[in-house]
Amino acid sequence: MRYVILRDDDTNGLTPVECLERLYRPFLERGLPVNLATIPKVQTNVRLPDGRPEGFLGACGPDARETVGIDENPELVRYLQRNPGYQVVQHGYHHSVAEFDSHRRAEIRERLERGTAVLLRAGFPRPRTFVAPYDKLSAVSLAAASRRFAIISTGWFEWRRLPARWWPAYLLKKFRHRAHWRVGNVILLSHPGCLLSFHRPCAAILPAIQEQVRRRRLTVLVTHWWEYFRDGRPDQAFIEVLHRTAAYLADQSDLRVIAFEDVLSGQVPLN
Ligand SMILES: [Zn+2]
Repeated sequence: MRYVILRDDDTNGLTPVECLERLYRPFLERGLPVNLATIPKVQTNVRLPDGRPEGFLGACGPDARETVGIDENPELVRYLQRNPGYQVVQHGYHHSVAEFDSHRRAEIRERLERGTAVLLRAGFPRPRTFVAPYDKLSAVSLAAASRRFAIISTGWFEWRRLPARWWPAYLLKKFRHRAHWRVGNVILLSHPGCLLSFHRPCAAILPAIQEQVRRRRLTVLVTHWWEYFRDGRPDQAFIEVLHRTAAYLADQSDLRVIAFEDVLSGQVPLN
């Protein structure tokens, strides 16, 4: 059996319900879980290096508030709770640029804890998986997140960015060519880049997914809901690729789409 986790990043208090519904109804109908890496309290002035608003803000439209908590959008919270196929995991706190790419221990601890508190206040279960904004974690952030979460999902791991005491386990993972590994009680999951992205030609996306899924036991597929609604308009061709992906994943008898939580059951081999 092979396993796939679909991770959609950047849901936040300004995400329109209809965007998620349009993208993920075909997954939910087939019983395929959708893991939403959710920004607890989005900062509305995050800019790209060229000065434009961050993509997830562009798709949301302007808002006068400086930060918006997911708990300030009861319509979205209700929608997510009514559809148990959605699994909310924690995606940073404000999603500012270098939020977890820092060595300030007290600040990092505070952001982790405040982010969790917002998700709990909204009524979601305590998140056990952490995803850092831009997949950027310092050694200090990794250590702090590993004390509070059971799973950290990120792009890849570099020894220079790991707590020194993780190095022996990391060397072993490298030596065995493992995509995913454990240190103490925390499970560390990597992913093969954002395959479901508008930066790739639509025709190349599903073949790339199929190849990656064949190559490993457990594949984390990352996408971003707002990429399908750039400039407020749905990208129909790209949405169709996502829906073809849902059909492909559901039709493989040797493949199961799971939630991050399922990895914690101990029934899913990591590699
Ligand atoms: Zn993000």
